[in-house]
Amino acid sequence: MADIIQLLPDHVANQIAAGEVVQRPASVVKELLENAIDAGATTIKLIVKDAGKTLIQVIDNGKGMSATDARLSFERHATSKIRNAEDLFQLNTKGFRGEALASIAAIAHVELKTKQEDDELGTCIEIEGSEVKSQDVVVTPKGTSLAVKNLFFNIPARRNFLKSNAVELRHVIDEFHRVALAHPSITFSMFHNGSETFNLPESNYRQRIVNIFGTKTNEKLVPVEEATEVLTISGFVGKPEFAKKSRNEQFFFVNNRFIKSAYLNHAINSAFEGLLKDGAQPSYFLNLTVNPQTIDINIHPTKTEIKFDDEHTLYAILRSAVKHSLGQFNIAPVLDFERDANLDTPYNYQQKSAPSVEVDSSFNPFKDEVVTSKLSSSASSFSTSPSFKKDRGTSWESLYVGLESKGNQSASNFNEVTFESEPETASIFENENEVEQKQTTYQLNNKFIISTIKSGMLVIDQHKAHQRVLYEEYLQNITVKEGVSQQLLFPLELHFSKQEIKLIQQLQEDLEATGFVFTHVKDEIVVITGVPVNVPESEVSIILEQLISDVENEVPDSHFSAADLLAKSMAKSLAIKTGQTLTNTEQEHLVNRLFACKEPSVSPTNKTTFITMTVDELEKKFM
Ligand code: ADP
Ligand code: MG
Repeated sequence: MADIIQLLPDHVANQIAAGEVVQRPASVVKELLENAIDAGATTIKLIVKDAGKTLIQVIDNGKGMSATDARLSFERHATSKIRNAEDLFQLNTKGFRGEALASIAAIAHVELKTKQEDDELGTCIEIEGSEVKSQDVVVTPKGTSLAVKNLFFNIPARRNFLKSNAVELRHVIDEFHRVALAHPSITFSMFHNGSETFNLPESNYRQRIVNIFGTKTNEKLVPVEEATEVLTISGFVGKPEFAKKSRNEQFFFVNNRFIKSAYLNHAINSAFEGLLKDGAQPSYFLNLTVNPQTIDINIHPTKTEIKFDDEHTLYAILRSAVKHSLGQFNIAPVLDFERDANLDTPYNYQQKSAPSVEVDSSFNPFKDEVVTSKLSSSASSFSTSPSFKKDRGTSWESLYVGLESKGNQSASNFNEVTFESEPETASIFENENEVEQKQTTYQLNNKFIISTIKSGMLVIDQHKAHQRVLYEEYLQNITVKEGVSQQLLFPLELHFSKQEIKLIQQLQEDLEATGFVFTHVKDEIVVITGVPVNVPESEVSIILEQLISDVENEVPDSHFSAADLLAKSMAKSLAIKTGQTLTNTEQEHLVNRLFACKEPSVSPTNKTTFITMTVDELEKKFM
């Protein structure tokens, strides 16, 4: 038989490899911004069109490239940043793989213009799908401009796979934020479809955060500073009372690189334990500096996950530093370290007097935590380490307790607003006083409603069922625009970031159809004078936050409908929670409303709302 193995042509290999580096426009944005930073730029401009699908251009004033380097930069594994594998452990640059430009050039139309300081003229190179179309000498300022047009032009499947512009733009902005937050001393600007969306002058870290997330953010920020042998932490956490439902304001940077870490996130959550409202997420903007030799950033192709040599120690230091800050700024009511002189002594100072390099409990102000420096860093050791097991156990437990009590609090609130205001329930309410009334429903575990039907038994999930009921109601209101509004006594003023305001503007019409009345939606402020009937004023900010976080996190498909999302989101916010005790009347009412729905069997997110068990099935169980 003939030989069948062939080497793939370069451009095909490049296209395949590109898939790893470039998933969407935002990936290109990240790579280009990082290259500009590595080039020492002090001013970086990002220009995008159609959420990056048509154009992504990054213009920097960095060191530029020679004509030869400009040409070489598009070769795979062409990098100026490392020379051998050891360099990987001393990384001071963002890039090092030498893959980004080669990958991008394989799947787009690319135009590079670059000039070094001392050169009179620069170089312009045009490449389409790995093929060099032209190379010329040009007049161009010092630095580099890289324009990427028509991303995935030669891979239609990938292009079709891209989400709506709103979603892709969201990802682009996220990347832009991450890079801009990690480098406050660099001036950044961003333009989308010709208008400036961000203008971030060189500033300190606090100002950078405020410039991105809105003026109102300033008062939320509590500084966190900590310096130990293994780790330096600096940055801010948000005051607990400002915590929102969305995870948008959670940033870890390790050696100026944005990373995701569920483990370190857990450390922050545990520092905030007992301080947050149900479902609220702490905000944090934290820069961790560690010895580059103790991390491995090589494990993830897009480099947002890194591996630490000693995760457990980082966890403990991070947790105590955040706790300490919350305590020092009088935010945490009860602290588990002594409130005497410790509070007046700068935390750093205490660390400095620690006698040895070894990290042990002596430098940790929380006496109940035992931290040893030589804990293994494998993921499994998280659950096997005795000291952390204990710590984790208690925190989960108290989390659960908190949840329950919160549920009960809102229970009464909910009853007032939803059940009493329903006119058709009048007869049921009257019946309530009849002592003889036959009980047809039971509540199990404050979660399920059990009811009998002719053929047997019905078990309803109260939270999911109520979501269905509310969802259909809101959707109906939005589509026929008949939401009834209730006027507020005093206008409600809420603050949001510029981006959040944009989202609210997009949804404004639909929100108004449900009964919201806005008198002002701009300049980071929303003023509301009317809300839908049945929506308590106290819930309004939660609903809007939930909505924003849903729109941001949901990756809506092409059938994305704002009305549907809004109805779902409001239903989710306002549905009776699991853990909430319901009176008999309320239980019955919910059952009746559920079965009056068009699609009673599933929640708006397609979860089962009820199950039935027939008498036959029951009988079989007793055989
Ligand atoms: P990496 O960043 O991993 O080295 P890239 O493919 O992103 O790989 O870039 C290849 C090389 O091109 C870089 O090592 C750098 O020398 C050069 N380069 C890329 N972008 C710029 C820029 N904006 N300014 C100067 N040099 C650049
Ligand atoms: Mg790079």
